[in-house]
Amino acid sequence: MALKGADILKKLPKTNCKECGFPTCFAFAMKIATGGAKPQDCPHMSAQSRAELEAELSPPIKLVTVGSGANALVIGEEEVMFRHEKTFFHEPGIAILLSDREAEGEIDQKLKKIVGFDFERIGVKLKVNLLALSHDSDEGGRYLALVRKVLETTDMALVLICRDTELLFSAAALCAGRKPLVYPISGQNLEAAVPRLKELDVVAGVCGKGLDEVANTASALREAGIEEMVLDSSPGNMEEAVRDNTLIRRSALKKGFRPLGYPTIAFPCFLYKDRLQEVLAAAACITKYAGIVVLSEPDEHLLLPLLVYRFNIYSDPRRPMTVEEKIYEIGGPGEDAPLLITTNYALDFFIVSGAIEEAGLPAYLCIKNTEGLGVLASWTSGKFNGEAIAEFFGKYGVEKTVKHRKLIIPGAARKLKEELEEDLPGWQIILGPHEASDIPKFLAEEWKQ
Ligand code: SF4
Repeated sequence: MALKGADILKKLPKTNCKECGFPTCFAFAMKIATGGAKPQDCPHMSAQSRAELEAELSPPIKLVTVGSGANALVIGEEEVMFRHEKTFFHEPGIAILLSDREAEGEIDQKLKKIVGFDFERIGVKLKVNLLALSHDSDEGGRYLALVRKVLETTDMALVLICRDTELLFSAAALCAGRKPLVYPISGQNLEAAVPRLKELDVVAGVCGKGLDEVANTASALREAGIEEMVLDSSPGNMEEAVRDNTLIRRSALKKGFRPLGYPTIAFPCFLYKDRLQEVLAAAACITKYAGIVVLSEPDEHLLLPLLVYRFNIYSDPRRPMTVEEKIYEIGGPGEDAPLLITTNYALDFFIVSGAIEEAGLPAYLCIKNTEGLGVLASWTSGKFNGEAIAEFFGKYGVEKTVKHRKLIIPGAARKLKEELEEDLPGWQIILGPHEASDIPKFLAEEWKQ
């Protein structure tokens, strides 16, 4: 719950001394409420009031980092129950399970698949984020060997799953620099776990039977000064997972209940043996509201739709995806190459550039900044009309890029053709195909003529 200016004012000295740079304490309080100032900017507030205020101002769902370096996964700090209210900020990590009961060859194959798997969608790389290493054999040495192997093979973020607390922290010590998530931390092993969590500075995977147990363990960890954790209420199926995740988020956002103000982890891999059911449960948990989702296998046919789904849910509905305004060179074009233009709506760019690549004919693709609007919407709003495109030509020196004077415009922009014939005198404006998929045929037949 956002703190109001009047609530903040109650903690301030109310002397209106102006030392914070604001004319009154009330003005300062209002600024803090909107994020424009910090409690420490007032030198006269008592230490206790400042600590209380900072605690109340901290995000209702804690930001948690698992892993380190370029592969670190950052989750939490979500602000809304529903994406359309604002946006979801930090997409959940997808983890793949590796068990120390699996044969070495099997683990090698899985690792190879996981490390090599990535897929680009409108300029964004979609990939698996974490490896979840599970101790299922009855030999501690096998588990430690698995952790060592993974450390040597990849720098991905790690989840360590082991019910033997001593072994769990021995494994964590091997990879503490990688800041793994250690699971499970519960009422049963809390006493032994707290000093090791503090010493190694790793993330606690809190596990309990139901929300009460989870909240109790999280509270105990908070009291011990441990703040980086993720929560698991041990649901028995997809419905319970969605229910508990929703209750956890609602408690944190709507009630300001701090012990549940952390990201969650979901284990579809343990809920269902059937792969399709497992992936459906994973999709449900991505929607509501897991911070990490653990899957059993790196099956690309199931991973791909799941990653695209996550990408869609976690794209910002307030902003269309865009690409940079400039002239893109595709396939090393020369001064006789075709010249095309479209908007900077990311989907337009990737579809058109993909079609040009498919045509196998080097070309220039002019991308005009339309603030992410597509062809017709940007034409009606004046961002992709004759005048705007003529301005683009001047700004990027298009006349010097090609020696011919032919510009291919999107087939949907028939009216634009007339405008450009006026605004770009001397240029032949060619209406391209309606569908980008027809660009290869169009270039082969029309351009070569
Ligand atoms: S420095 Fe503190 S006491 Fe002085 S005006 Fe600002 S908020 Fe009020």
